[in-house]
Amino acid sequence: MNFEALNKISYGLYLITTHYEGENYGFIGNAIMQVTSDPLQIIIASNKENYSTEKITRSQKVGIVVIGEHVKREFIAQFGYKSSKNINKFEGYTIQYSPLKMPIITENMCAWYDAEVITEFDAGTHILYLCKLQNGDFIDQNEPPLTYDYYRNVFKLKSPKTAPTYFDPKLKNLSAPKNEVYVCGVCGYEYHPSLGDQDHQIAPGTPFEDLPDHWKCPLCDKEKSVFHKK
Ligand code: FE
Repeated sequence: MNFEALNKISYGLYLITTHYEGENYGFIGNAIMQVTSDPLQIIIASNKENYSTEKITRSQKVGIVVIGEHVKREFIAQFGYKSSKNINKFEGYTIQYSPLKMPIITENMCAWYDAEVITEFDAGTHILYLCKLQNGDFIDQNEPPLTYDYYRNVFKLKSPKTAPTYFDPKLKNLSAPKNEVYVCGVCGYEYHPSLGDQDHQIAPGTPFEDLPDHWKCPLCDKEKSVFHKK
């Protein structure tokens, strides 16, 4: 199996939310598809390790926001690589509520929907939710939807471990390593010595090996030890 070939399957990127007992939960997912139009149904795959998964199972409702290309990296970092268990991911964002009371963020987004869960399937690492769409509309018709391909190629990011599209780099035949560029094993951030890291006052020209031990990934905040050579 050539796992790289799976990258040719197209996906969008979505903010998947729910609201349960007064709290908002959300994460970024790529595994959403419309499966029927009458009734209007979709399937969402959500990792059992996502804190939000348990909350969707309890609330039986989901909000979906189609993320736009102009979304900020901080949004991806906040909703894609952190857990609702530890922080309120929605802090600092303007929240609107759908008719099913699902939290919706509109900045740099294309469209929103809300849905009720009809049934769940256990797919091992993930739960598949079959949902009936109830409401939805455009947010900005001119904002292009962010595709997974764009996310990989322009944002230079990769799937977190909990994504259905994640694959273990050990499974892939790595080509000859390119020297010096180091990649975060958690979020895919690339450290380029020629650029340094302005956020952490690391001067351009600093080799990865010379970064201080307390240096952390500027995107997901993980230690130096999770990086590997590209
Ligand atoms: Fe990272």
